[in-house]
Amino acid sequence: MQRMTETGLPFFQFETFPPGLTQAVFTRLGGVSSAPFASLNLSSSVADSAANLRVNRQRAYGALGYSTETLVHAHLRHGADVARVTRAQQGQVAGQVDGLITDDAGCGLAMNYADCAPILLVDARRGAIGLGHAGWQGAVQDLPGAMVRAMMAAFGSDPGDIIAGIGPCIGVCCYEVGEPVISAVRAAFADEAALLLAQPGKPRPHFDLAAANDENLRRAGVRRVENAGICTACRTDLFFSHRAEKGKTGRFGVLLALTKAEGG
Ligand SMILES: [Zn+2]
Repeated sequence: MQRMTETGLPFFQFETFPPGLTQAVFTRLGGVSSAPFASLNLSSSVADSAANLRVNRQRAYGALGYSTETLVHAHLRHGADVARVTRAQQGQVAGQVDGLITDDAGCGLAMNYADCAPILLVDARRGAIGLGHAGWQGAVQDLPGAMVRAMMAAFGSDPGDIIAGIGPCIGVCCYEVGEPVISAVRAAFADEAALLLAQPGKPRPHFDLAAANDENLRRAGVRRVENAGICTACRTDLFFSHRAEKGKTGRFGVLLALTKAEGG
């Protein structure tokens, strides 16, 4: 990813993504919320004030020419359900899903994160995108693969045309896991040894969430995946981390949209 600035607000963009998109992985910087939500918390699922949230969303989405009312949102539930959306759902929560897909130019998608992996999909040939949220539960339930298959069914996407981005998430360096994560990963992935890394002198392994999501994407036929390679728990200066901040933290946002067509 590449660091950008718009109207003074820092954010990241995937370098391998094609033009014709609006994309932003926001950080925790540039907002008005105080600790533990300092400062650019974008989620109403934490105990931040509604007034702060309104200003933060204006700053973040506004920097890219969007607003809460021109983006489609989702109520995240750590599952593998995917919803196809259009501009008719702008300003709304499209459902209790962890994946949103659209081929509607100008229909922006938004989700929030703190350790779970942002999954971004772009099919420039079909003019379609997807945005997802995959922590360990999404990874073992194959949310990334479900998004790819939903794009194939809805838009005729060829997985070989899809470029994927895996955003900042908790890294294998910091993600010690126990049950039920270990058993679920063993059941879902053949190459569990590469995903559950034993720690010398420690009883519990570390889970490589980004690698698991990468494996899901490749099993679904996606060949080009850009991994942000940023650990949210190591970089609490830049991102919110549920694990590192013991649950008392905010959520950073991701925005993905097909650039609005002329007159659209
Ligand atoms: Zn780390």
